[in-house]
This record gives sequence, C-alpha cells and structure tokens, in this order.
Amino acid sequence: MSIKNEYLAELKERVVKRNPNEPEFHQAIEEVLESLEVVAEANPEYIKMGIFESIVEPERIIKFRVPWVDDNGNVRVNRGYRVQFNSAIGPYKGGLRFHPSVNEGIIKFLGFEQIFKNSLTGLPIGGGKGGSDFDPKGKSDMEIMRFCQSFMTELQRHIGADTDVPAGDIGVGAREIGYLYGQYKRLRNESVGVLTGKGLSYGGSLARKEATGYGLCYFTDAMLRDHGTSFEGKTVCISGSGNVAIYACEKAQTLGAKVITLSDSNGYIVDQNGIDLDLVKEIKEVKRQRISEYVKVHTDAEYHEGCKGVWTVKCDIALPCATQNELDEESAQALIDNGVMAVCEGANMPTTAEGTQKLQANGVLFGPAKASNAGGVATSALEMAQNSSRLSWDFETVDSELKKIMENIYGKCCDAAKKYNMEGNLVAGANIAGFLRVADAMYAQGVV
Ligand code: NDP
Repeated sequence: MSIKNEYLAELKERVVKRNPNEPEFHQAIEEVLESLEVVAEANPEYIKMGIFESIVEPERIIKFRVPWVDDNGNVRVNRGYRVQFNSAIGPYKGGLRFHPSVNEGIIKFLGFEQIFKNSLTGLPIGGGKGGSDFDPKGKSDMEIMRFCQSFMTELQRHIGADTDVPAGDIGVGAREIGYLYGQYKRLRNESVGVLTGKGLSYGGSLARKEATGYGLCYFTDAMLRDHGTSFEGKTVCISGSGNVAIYACEKAQTLGAKVITLSDSNGYIVDQNGIDLDLVKEIKEVKRQRISEYVKVHTDAEYHEGCKGVWTVKCDIALPCATQNELDEESAQALIDNGVMAVCEGANMPTTAEGTQKLQANGVLFGPAKASNAGGVATSALEMAQNSSRLSWDFETVDSELKKIMENIYGKCCDAAKKYNMEGNLVAGANIAGFLRVADAMYAQGVV
C-alpha cells in the first residue's frame, strides 16, 4: 500500500515525522489518505484551504496524571488521555479505553478513525477518544471506583454535554461509566448527558449495550443481501468476548447463523454445536471470568491458548471484535483457504493493512470498522438526543433507528466507492463518504 498523490504522500511523511513511534496512528492515516487521493484530485479547493493538513492534526490533546489508592493503601499513578480530534460537525464523541496498552498513539489512531465513523452515521457528532493505561483486570470494585473518580476529577473540566461526550470502549463498561458519571455529577452539580452508555436508571438508552454488536450484524446483513445471500445457515467465527462480541453473537444467532468461536486475550473457544450465549454472559458479564471457563460446562467444546488461532477455524463469515491488528495477512490467508465469504470488523482496525489487501484481492466481502461498527456511537448519539429532550424511547424505536442507520451507512459506502470508480471497495467508500461531510463543514467554517 502506498500513497501516489505527491501532496498527500508528503503530508503522510510529515505526520510520521511529527508523531514518532505511533505506528497505529500512521497506519490509520495511511489508509485514509490513500483512499482520498481521488478526492484531492477532484477537489483542489480542499488542498488550498488546508483541509487535509487540519484533519490529521487533533484540535486538542489532553494528557494528565491519574493518582489513586489501591486496597492495600499504596498510591498508584496512571496516565489519562483525551484527544479532541475534530469538532467540525458536532461535539467530540468517542469512547474511553482502559487497558495497559493505551498510549498517546493508540488514542490518536482511535480518535482519527472516530471522525469518519461519526460522520458516516449522519448524526451531528465530532471525533474524539480517550482512556488510560490503567488495567481494570484483577482490581476490586472499590479500586475501579477510586480510579474512575480520580480520572473524572481531571477530565470533567474538559468535557460537557455540548462540548465532548465520552462513552465506553475496551475496559470501560456499565460499571465504569456509572462511577465516572457519579463523580462528574458530584463535581459539577449537573444532571446532563455528558457520558453515554449510562445505566437505564439514570439516563441511559435502551439498546445502547447491544448497539455495536447488533449494528455490526445489520451492516453485514445489508452487505450479504446485496450479494444475494444472508446470515441464514452460515457458520460465523467471532473473536473477543466483550461487549461487541457478545451482542454480535446474539444478533448473528437471531438472524439464523451458527456462531462457533469466541476469544479473550488468553485464548479461544470452539463450540461446533453453536455458542451457548447465556453461559458466556454469565462468565463474562456477571462473574468477569476468563472465556476458558466455558469448556468446564460444555466439555465437548475446545479451548486453545493464544488468540490468533481463532482465524484458522473454518467459517463462512468472520467478525473480529477484540482489538486492533488481531487479524494479519497469515490469518487472512487461513480464512481464505477455508472459504470465508465475508469479513466485517467489529473492533477498531482489527485487520492489518496487509490482511485487508489480501482479503479484498481474493474477493472476500470486507466491511471496514469505521462503517460496520458505527452502531455503538450512532446509538450514543440517540442517547444524547433522549437526554436533551428528557425522554426515553422504547427498545424497538432505538433498535429500528439503529438498523436504518447501519443500512444507510452501507448504502453511502457503496455509493461513494462507485462514484469514484472503486465499486465494491467499502474501505475506500467509507473513507471518502466519511471525509466529504467533515471536509464540507470545515470548508464552510473557514480556517479555524
Ligand atoms: P470489552 O472490554 O468489552 O471487550 C474486549 C474483548 O477483546 C475482550 O474479550 C478482551 O479480552 C479482548 N481483547 C482486548 N484486548 C485484547 C488484546 N490485546 N488481544 C486479544 N484480545 C483482546 O471491549 P469492547 O467489546 O467494547 O471493544 C472491543 C473492540 O470494539 C475494540 O476495538 C473497541 O474499540 C471496539 N468498539 C467498541 C464499541 C463499543 O460500543 N463498546 C464501539 C465501536 C468499537 P480480555 O478480557 O482478555 O482483555
């Protein structure tokens, strides 16, 4: 993969130089700029107004100390981040990730991707992302609470219902959002929709928990139907066993597929009888245990150490729902050798650039994350709308809006790819369609 347009190639080099040691950020920039070559050529006014240069530079990066006290009375210090990347079309919006691998480059890559994803939803939300290198694994509830309170004590001065509205991501689920929201309310004395993914008793939206996984399946289903097929009777491999994976599994099963794998960062399970999702929810959501517990109940299922092997299991459809770069070229080849027909990304950038190229070159239908996993943030925007109007919608209303949004996103990606002579290339279509809306808004607002 390489950028041929001289202006964009030089811009990419500048980004790399200016942001050293941030390979994930460089990877995301390269993919987007490569897709935008045709746009740059057709719209020289964007170059003149510095739109490309501005869009790769975050509007603001906030980096802060997060001190907290563990259960043994020891002071611990983590690092917190919020990258407010682009507010051209609305308040910054994007999740918070708590994971030891978090650093500034990871948050920048996620924030950058978020700009285009949020644009694709058609809703008024800008791009942002945040998090910490804090590891929630093995911490008590009280430790999690103290950490979240300390994190919010600093973050609260930078966010707001009309400024920046964070949500969950890896390591930040309902429990963490509750503690973060409680601290925000205490410090600011405001009951507003400053976070999404809230509990239903204090302003959360029905179907938000399910939204990313369900949305992924609605997108995949639209893609499959466009090619004369569906989930019905298909075998599906899913990686991860967190929020996105669990609800992707649920919806795929409802749509008639048999899901046979799930994983966590230690290993993966294969159940050729179809995943028992009630058991998975009990293990992961209630007991917060490892996925390996599954085979203690279903003794005919298999557990394998290591994550990568999950892509060697034969399937029709693969839905990577764990983390970035989990599906590389070798895994893509294994899926192709086993006859995979579609790969749709539930996680953010789970497929490496080489893996993506291999899948596309071999005719595998490929749904890129910024389009296929946009259901979570879209439903977060619906949560914001409910909070602003002080109303709560029923599950069916939110779910049917979500489905409509995902089908629209699929249509937009197809149309943009076709318009720029890359029919069927949803990676290019998502980047172009996502970019154009933001670029138009930036252009209209002048050099700011
Ligand atoms: P969760 O924390 O709920 O689950 C993450 C899952 O991925 C866990 O099973 C975890 O295993 C596994 N995982 C995490 N890191 C790694 C790693 N380095 N290697 C292998 N497995 C790993 O997070 P979510 O389900 O919310 O998020 C999953 C992905 O989806 C992320 O890429 C996120 O950015 C993306 N996403 C999430 C949205 C949401 O609404 N939640 C919206 C859009 C995208 P373990 O428990 O062992 O860590």
